[in-house]
Amino acid sequence: MTKPTGAAPLDALIIGAGFSGLYQLHCLRDKLGLPVRVLEAAPAVGGTWYWNRYPGARCDSESHSYCYTFSDDLVQEWEWTERYPAQAEVLRYLNHVADRFDLRRDIQFDTRVTEARYDEAANLWRVTTANGERFAATFLITAVGCLSAANVPDIPGLKDFKGVCHHTSNWPHEDVDFRGKRVGLIGTASTGIQAAPVIAETAAHLTVFQRTANYSVPARNAPLTPEVKRQHKENAAEIRRLMHASTNGHPYLIADRAALATPPEEREAIYEAAWARGGLYIRPSFSDLMISKEANDTAAQFILKKIRAVIKDPAKAAVLTNIDHPYAAKRPPIDTNYFETFNRDNVALVDIKAAPIAEVTADGIRTSEAFYPLDIIVFATGFDAMTGSLLRLNIAGRDGVKLSDAWEAGPRTYLGLQVAGFPNLFTITGPGSPSVLCNVPVPIQQHVEWITDCIAHMRKTGAKTIEATVDAQDRWVEQVNAAANATLLSSVKHSWYLGANVPGKPRVFMPYAGGMARYRGICDDVAKQGYAGFALS
Ligand code: NAP
Repeated sequence: MTKPTGAAPLDALIIGAGFSGLYQLHCLRDKLGLPVRVLEAAPAVGGTWYWNRYPGARCDSESHSYCYTFSDDLVQEWEWTERYPAQAEVLRYLNHVADRFDLRRDIQFDTRVTEARYDEAANLWRVTTANGERFAATFLITAVGCLSAANVPDIPGLKDFKGVCHHTSNWPHEDVDFRGKRVGLIGTASTGIQAAPVIAETAAHLTVFQRTANYSVPARNAPLTPEVKRQHKENAAEIRRLMHASTNGHPYLIADRAALATPPEEREAIYEAAWARGGLYIRPSFSDLMISKEANDTAAQFILKKIRAVIKDPAKAAVLTNIDHPYAAKRPPIDTNYFETFNRDNVALVDIKAAPIAEVTADGIRTSEAFYPLDIIVFATGFDAMTGSLLRLNIAGRDGVKLSDAWEAGPRTYLGLQVAGFPNLFTITGPGSPSVLCNVPVPIQQHVEWITDCIAHMRKTGAKTIEATVDAQDRWVEQVNAAANATLLSSVKHSWYLGANVPGKPRVFMPYAGGMARYRGICDDVAKQGYAGFALS
């Protein structure tokens, strides 16, 4: 590996070696020929797939779409084994990409960035790491993911717990042995819903602490047959076309029919087919599910009926189906045997909306009504999403203005890619990008390619700095708000899309909900107009 350059400035520094950082390195180094370095906190590549190795961790996008599409050879040579890849398989894939494109020699592992400061006189980003190393680069590109800063609730007494505690996103590398153990799981969204069935299989007892009930649809995961694998390879171009044309970056389009304009029996048959297919196919069944509460209710009622049919204990069924939001207005989970898990003798459900957690003691969790003795507590409590991973980098821009101050009232970006006052800083999947509302490799690839083209344009034209204008940023924030307000997404006041899961975080709808295809078109137009809304100098 090349030695860190220390004082010698690089053209670009990339923070993070997950999906975004690996591809950004490949593009800048191998397409533009720039000296680039990636700094990665972990000892290996993978980003979110390196850290999130909790039991049951699996991708909710189908494997043939949860991948890069920039290289036909890569698409053709990689073999996914299951419909939804497990964490270990996605991690193997990213390691394969790192090897195949010889990326490791420009990645410095075990290197956590603790500060990044724009030096206006030198037009350089000066970056400091936890090891005390210093780097300088013209461009700073954050590839830190939207869901990387763990949200561990500040429960009184937590530090006194004598057992073992793990947050799902910082899971130990050695297997956690649940045998003979009483396990408490806090959190019943995408992560908790994946983890509960797997933990229940080996734990002596599992207590699931549910604050907000959630819809979930069976994933119907299965090994991919040779025939399906062959179809995916043969249809790779069409799959990519659909991923680019779709709202959410998945390889299917939203049906051009309204639930409310479809006769009830026909509608039911469509939901039944989507249920049987499994995964995320209910949402695209009709065009009005995300814009009309009445339409959404038809999907919600269908899913609730299915959930009730699984759960044997009526009391548990009542708690698990006491859902307070429209379907898919919070991130829709998919599962393998989640509701079935509550039929097991060794699984209990605690409604902590009705009886909140009061404290953790040395031996367990006490709610306002009862005490639950535990040996292990698993926090599936999510993330300080979208802004947490950026703010912890301690970024300061022009005039020393801190990103945390610029975003005091909530994040503001232009296209999710740049922040006014922070020249030459690019934020892959920053707030204001469609990111988390999509099959995320799709926005990642688009952002990386757009940033690469932008830097290539700057080199061609001799521009030294690029910076979002305040005007363009203000207009984009308005568009992000308008896009969310046009959907049911903004009707949920307690989702992490709004930052509501982190106490004290400003409530701002963060991702762009106007759809990936529309977003791509906007970015293309901006570039065609000579990077409209950016000041190049
Ligand atoms: P999450 O969606 O934020 O859910 C956190 C869960 O913990 C919720 O049930 C939440 O309840 C609960 N919770 C949070 N703070 C709590 C507290 N103080 N006391 C009690 N309960 C609390 O986090 P996540 O499940 O880790 O998922 C985050 C995102 O990661 C997903 O939306 C998805 O984008 C991504 N993800 C993807 C996959 C995949 O593709 N396979 C898998 C997992 C996660 P409330 O709802 O009441 O806040």
